[in-house]
Amino acid sequence: MDAAYDNDNIFARILRGELPAHKVYEDDATLVFMDVMPRADGHALVIPKNPSRNVLDIEPRDLNAVLATTQKIARAALKAFDAEGILIQQYNEAASGQTVFHTHFHVIPRWADTALRPHGGEMADPEVLKAQADKLRAALA
Ligand code: AMP
Repeated sequence: MDAAYDNDNIFARILRGELPAHKVYEDDATLVFMDVMPRADGHALVIPKNPSRNVLDIEPRDLNAVLATTQKIARAALKAFDAEGILIQQYNEAASGQTVFHTHFHVIPRWADTALRPHGGEMADPEVLKAQADKLRAALA
């Protein structure tokens, strides 16, 4: 497998400011925003700023940065959404379920009595996503 990185994938376009996103956090190496088709309330995505398709081709330095931000967001999400657990999901290539080919980690709040919604299911209300991004950002402060 040596598919090339596509500079016009959705997340590259969000990074360039060409598409909107409900942003939560940003540092030199990573960006975090809400998933538009959340599998649970508070579902966020953590991406590196440098280009890579997934864990199979990412530079270790970028992977370390993404994982450090993922931990930060997971801890904040637990607090912000009063979650009982956090699911971290990450897909590599189409056969595994990957649909956007810029590396990303899903941070998904979980509660024992709440089932996960389908991957790539319904679009959430933008107002709801905005409120959740605000809540998550506040929990990071
Ligand atoms: P996957 O590549 O399978 O890990 O999933 C890509 C994820 O990106 C899915 O959970 C989608 O709901 C999400 N997604 C797709 N387009 C956008 C977008 N414009 N903004 C935020 N999330 C998105």
